[in-house]
Amino acid sequence: SEMKKRTSSIDISSLTDNAIKVLGRRYLKRDRDGNALETPSQMFKRVADTIAAADRIFNDQADTAGLSDQFYRMMTALEFLPNSPTLMNAGRELGQLSACFVLPVGDSMEDIFDAVKFTALIHKSGGGTGFSFSRLRPANDVVLTTTGISSGPISFMRVFDVATETIKQGGTRRGANMGILRVDHPDIMNFIMCKADKHQLNNFNISVGLTEVFMAAVEADQDYDLVNPRDGQVIGTLNARKVFDRIVAQAWENGEPGIVFLDRLNRDNPTPHIGVIESTNPCGEQPLLPYESCNLGSINLGKMVINGEVNWKRLRDVVNLAVHFLDNVVEINQYPLPIIAEMTFGNRKIGLGVMGWADMLIQLGIPYNSDRALELAEEVMKFINTEGHDASHALAKKRGPFPNFKESLYDKQGKAPIRNATVTTIAPTGTISIIANASSGVEPLFAVSYIRQVMDNDILLEINPFFEAMAKERGFYSKELMRKIAERGTIRDLDEVPQDIQAVFVTAHDISPEVHIGMQAAFQKYTDNAVSKTVNFAHTATIDDVAKVFRLAYQLDCKGVTIYRDGSRDNQVLSTGKER
Ligand code: UDP
Repeated sequence: SEMKKRTSSIDISSLTDNAIKVLGRRYLKRDRDGNALETPSQMFKRVADTIAAADRIFNDQADTAGLSDQFYRMMTALEFLPNSPTLMNAGRELGQLSACFVLPVGDSMEDIFDAVKFTALIHKSGGGTGFSFSRLRPANDVVLTTTGISSGPISFMRVFDVATETIKQGGTRRGANMGILRVDHPDIMNFIMCKADKHQLNNFNISVGLTEVFMAAVEADQDYDLVNPRDGQVIGTLNARKVFDRIVAQAWENGEPGIVFLDRLNRDNPTPHIGVIESTNPCGEQPLLPYESCNLGSINLGKMVINGEVNWKRLRDVVNLAVHFLDNVVEINQYPLPIIAEMTFGNRKIGLGVMGWADMLIQLGIPYNSDRALELAEEVMKFINTEGHDASHALAKKRGPFPNFKESLYDKQGKAPIRNATVTTIAPTGTISIIANASSGVEPLFAVSYIRQVMDNDILLEINPFFEAMAKERGFYSKELMRKIAERGTIRDLDEVPQDIQAVFVTAHDISPEVHIGMQAAFQKYTDNAVSKTVNFAHTATIDDVAKVFRLAYQLDCKGVTIYRDGSRDNQVLSTGKER
């Protein structure tokens, strides 16, 4: 508790150099020569004014100036940030505010190339796209109109990949895609291997869509059926354990494919009467119906600590404001296609989540890899989820429930009308956490100091601000030591750093994969959508270690898993000094 008192007094609220650099490059309005036409605070004002103005749609007397002020303060205090497209595009010509889209890919040339075109439009506006390719007939199947043979889902994925490569997202960020194939698709073995060549499909994350039937067959060591989606015919069987082992081995080899539990996504699909969920957005946290979009926003938990305690009061206020903010975003968003507008207005899904979880723990003096951290994760997320739902119920009273409410899960369970079919999602917060100078999402610190590569090839050197402040306070700060730590990548067993600090500034690689999954499960328990989390493994981890974590994720009711074994991919987004 000594530790508690000391860390909680550290306050970092102004923008860092890194944040200003990122904002200047991609977020601020600029003229043709690339000169900024607004300051970061003008950007926040633009966003706050634009989103607050939506209140007038429901009430022409609404105090939008007062609301804008509250939005502005919450963003500039770095307590909450919406996903990047909202910061970039609100109040500007493009006006596309969502990070996440899912598009259907039908089994015809027209459908496939329509989807390619829609993808291009979405990427141009700063959004990411997810697809299931499960409806495409397998390679070498018949094509009646030409009496030829089909080329199969993987070859069509390459078309999407090349299109993505060619379009830079609205001049802001590169397109990102999720590709999912059901485990019972006849081309599944090729899909599992489709990124084995590390030069292929670089604009895709891939995940195998696992079913309950498949998981039961793995458990019982049985065969399961492969189905041709063209006509629903069973055209063969595979041994489930062999397929599972292949997925695990490939994930161990280079981090992909991930897995996603499709039946769980649909168990929690709030609007089964509207459609079936077959894919998520690119980073996996947002399951959506075909043509649905979702906008995300994240509360910075690092700012929700006061006097060594969680600041529940401010957290409640920020949750309420954030739900209001995100529902307004749904309202004024300029959707890239009419059908996307229609689907999104029908369910009005929002995804409120968190960043700065590791920063919160540090300030409370709680090691990430402790039972107390798992308990607090549930407590905090339950609070946000409950308050968030309450805020959405309150909005429904004023603005009406989401239009597909009737016959939704909420309706069938006799719950009160709610404005948003989903309220919570935990995003990776890759860029907004840099802007907020917060630890990403619910991840542990990646390192106490490290090199971060963002958006193409920008390189940023970062020292954890809490660590730097603590080292100065406790009198062990020196430039040489900081450099040494950057090279080592961990402070574990470093004599210069006191033991209690080693315990609290624990980093991703000091934490066992089981704890990573345990933390994901703790947050998932109180999250409507899914949780973005990477389970880090040491380079020396075995294939069996990975298999255990996949099974554990299934047991703990996670919606999917993404793993990364250190050094298994050439171009990693985050890397410690020692790898350079
Ligand atoms: N995303 C994208 N391209 C990117 C990064 C993100 O399309 O380069 C989308 C994708 O759907 C991802 C979502 O944005 O799942 C949220 O990512 P993140 O939280 O990292 O975005 P941020 O708001 O921090 O930029």
